[in-house]
Amino acid sequence: LPVLAIVGRPNVGKSALVNRILGRREAVVEDVPGVTRDRVSYPAEWAGRRFTLVDTGGWEPDARGIDASVADQAEIAVELCDAVLFVVDSRVGPTATDERVVQLLRRTDRPVFLVANKVDDAAQEPAAAVLWSLGLGEPRPVSALHGRGVADLLDDVLKALPERSAVAKPQLDGPRRVAILGRPNVGKSSLLNKAAGEERVVVNDLAGTTRDPVDEQVEIAGRVWTFVDTAGIRRRVHLQQGADFYASLRTAAALEKAEVAVVVLDVTESISDQDLRIIDLVLESGRALVLAFNKWDLLDDDRRRYLEREIEQDLAHVAWAPRVNISARTGRHLEKLVPALEAALESWDTRIPTAKFNAFVAELAQEHPHPLRGGKQPRILFGTQVQNRPPTFVLFTSGFLDPGYRRFIQRRLRERYGFEGSPIQINVRVRE
Ligand code: GDP
Repeated sequence: LPVLAIVGRPNVGKSALVNRILGRREAVVEDVPGVTRDRVSYPAEWAGRRFTLVDTGGWEPDARGIDASVADQAEIAVELCDAVLFVVDSRVGPTATDERVVQLLRRTDRPVFLVANKVDDAAQEPAAAVLWSLGLGEPRPVSALHGRGVADLLDDVLKALPERSAVAKPQLDGPRRVAILGRPNVGKSSLLNKAAGEERVVVNDLAGTTRDPVDEQVEIAGRVWTFVDTAGIRRRVHLQQGADFYASLRTAAALEKAEVAVVVLDVTESISDQDLRIIDLVLESGRALVLAFNKWDLLDDDRRRYLEREIEQDLAHVAWAPRVNISARTGRHLEKLVPALEAALESWDTRIPTAKFNAFVAELAQEHPHPLRGGKQPRILFGTQVQNRPPTFVLFTSGFLDPGYRRFIQRRLRERYGFEGSPIQINVRVRE
């Protein structure tokens, strides 16, 4: 759904406008500085169209003062939203804070509506006209309290709001795209052949598929997948020089096209630097990851114990990736690949609502506050998931977070939400 944000100084009437847009009947609460509301985004509907309304008024202002808080809101709004309503109090006129917000809003190419609130009757309209001076175009006179002008405003906002959120990446139709990766001779082509087997699909017009001749559609357990760059797997090229470089390039290119990578490892050999490099490439690409331990039919007990130790040591950083123990030769447990791929993609697609995520962050901070640094305590002011595929979070903080604390947050996020098979990224923005 497209996302519409409401920003503005305290007391300009943001919550009144939110209530008006949501059609809520409860008594309008005035913007009281320091009053925190429990959520920041609401499902909204106007003229039959649904969108998400983000109310940035709930988490302002804090000790850093109004200016900084409002600037934060504006910045977050332009990063996260498809359109912005910037609310100004027409009875007060443009203030220095308003001007600062305008500067931030000018940097975005998203539509911004300048809302001149508290225009309760026609006599007030000249006061709205003064706001032309902000340089954000035509001020839209409204009375959030009485409803005057709000319908016209929203009609225009909806025209400017895209059908699909540009913030949320489009959901692609068609089979999901899998890259089979691994160093030579681990069994990639055997795996592909076995999986494709007699069930090779000949599909030309599957929804959403652009048929690349090097890709292949394969049906496993009733579900069709696109395996990317299968030509690269089937063709056995033996390069003497620069083989590593080309192999990496090929891997990177396949990852570009894929959503999830299956990294195939040969259980009869030790986990090598090359294996780890390939896993690193997957991590860099931000794609979902499944580890397939192949040639299980050749595994004896000694090697098995040793392998377990190797996994513990070398693959601890991807302990979140589902592991399947297979034999491409016998077909053992190949069917387990499907639930693993599905789980990884589901994690990769996950979106956590902002309100939930902030509740989680608040819980963390209470249970385990960031250690004091130089007498100060970095605080997380607000957090939100800015993207999925892979899940990417931004934390707005009052100071740098120690690496250890970041890892703690990562760990807790996985404990709470799983994210099996998906990398997660946490970005920290410091507000000074
Ligand atoms: P690729 O270079 O990664 O595509 O590896 P291939 O699929 O060509 O396999 C390399 C060698 O390992 C071939 O001789 C395969 O027959 C063998 N191989 C692949 N998978 C298995 C397996 O699960 N068990 C056994 N025993 N051999 C396998």
